[in-house]
Amino acid sequence: FRSDKHEFELYYQPIVRVATGETEGFEALLRWQTAESGPISPGVFIPVAERAGLIVPISIWVLKLACEEAAGWHRRFGPEPRLYVSINVSARHFSHPGFIADVKDAIEHSAIDPQFVKLELTESLAMDDAPSTEKTMSELRGLGFRLSIDDFGTGYSSLSYLKRFPVHTLKIDQSFVSTMDSDRDNYAIVGTIVTLAQNLGLEVVAEGVETVSQFERLKAIGCDAAQGYLFSRPMPRDAVGAFISSARRQTASSEHRTLTSTAS
Ligand code: C2E
Ligand code: CA
Ligand code: CA
Repeated sequence: FRSDKHEFELYYQPIVRVATGETEGFEALLRWQTAESGPISPGVFIPVAERAGLIVPISIWVLKLACEEAAGWHRRFGPEPRLYVSINVSARHFSHPGFIADVKDAIEHSAIDPQFVKLELTESLAMDDAPSTEKTMSELRGLGFRLSIDDFGTGYSSLSYLKRFPVHTLKIDQSFVSTMDSDRDNYAIVGTIVTLAQNLGLEVVAEGVETVSQFERLKAIGCDAAQGYLFSRPMPRDAVGAFISSARRQTASSEHRTLTSTAS
C-alpha cells in the first residue's frame, strides 16, 4: 500500500493538558480524499476496509507516517516537553500475527522513542478477547509504547481486566463529554470515569470538547487532558508546526502574565 495519488492523508488533532492549556500531543486521524466523490469519513471507510481485508496495509502506512511525523516534531522543537503521537489501531491489525513486527518496524524506521507513541485501542476491541489483548499489550509495553483505551464507557469493560491491562490512559468517549452541559447523568459518568482512572493510577483524556463550559467542568473534576474542536479541529501535517509554535508563545506569555501579576 502506498498513498501514491495522495488520496490518503494523516491529519493531526492536538491533545491539551487541562491544568495548563499546553499541547502535550496529537492524535493522528486518517483522511480519504477521493477524486470522484470528495472526502469520505474514516468512520465510513475504515469499517469497509476492515471487512475487505485492506486495513492492514493502510494501518502499517499510518503507523510509519505518524511515527516519522512525531520524530520530526522532536527534531524541530527540541527535547522539552516532548510531544507524543496517538495512533488508532484497527482490530484486524492488532490481532494480526505481524502486528508486533510492524510496530517495531515503524519505530526503527523513524528512530522515535516509543514512549512518545501512544497506541489507541477501542474499549470493545480490548475486551473482545481480553486474554489475548493482555498478552499483546504486555509485549507492546515491553517495547516501551504507551497504551490508551479509546471510546471508554461505550463498551463493556471488565474491571478486573482493566486493572490487569498495562494501559496508561483512558479516553472518555465523546458522547458523554459533548452532552455534559445539558445531561446531569452524563456529567456524573464523566466524573466517575475520571475518579476510576485516578484510583487506578491512569491518565484520563476527554474527547469531543467543544465548549468553554465543558472545559471548565473537566478542570473542576480533575481530568488530565482534553481534545476537541474547542482547541482545534484535526489539521494537515503542514499546519502542525505553526500550531505548536503559536501555542508555545501563548503559554509563555500567560506564564509571564502570572509571574508579573504575583510579583505586583
Ligand atoms: P476516534 O478515534 O474516536 O477519533 C475521534 C473523532 O472525533 C475524529 O473523527 C475527530 O475528528 C472527531 N472529533 C474530535 N474533536 C471533536 C469535537 O470536538 N466534536 C466532534 N463532533 N468530533 C470531534 P474522525 O477523524 O472522523 O475519525 C472517526 C473514527 O475513525 C475515529 O474515531 C477512529 O475510530 C477511526 N480512525 C480515524 N483514523 C484512523 C486510523 O488511522 N486508523 C484506524 N484504525 N482508525 C482510524
Ligand atoms: Ca482515537
Ligand atoms: Ca474516541
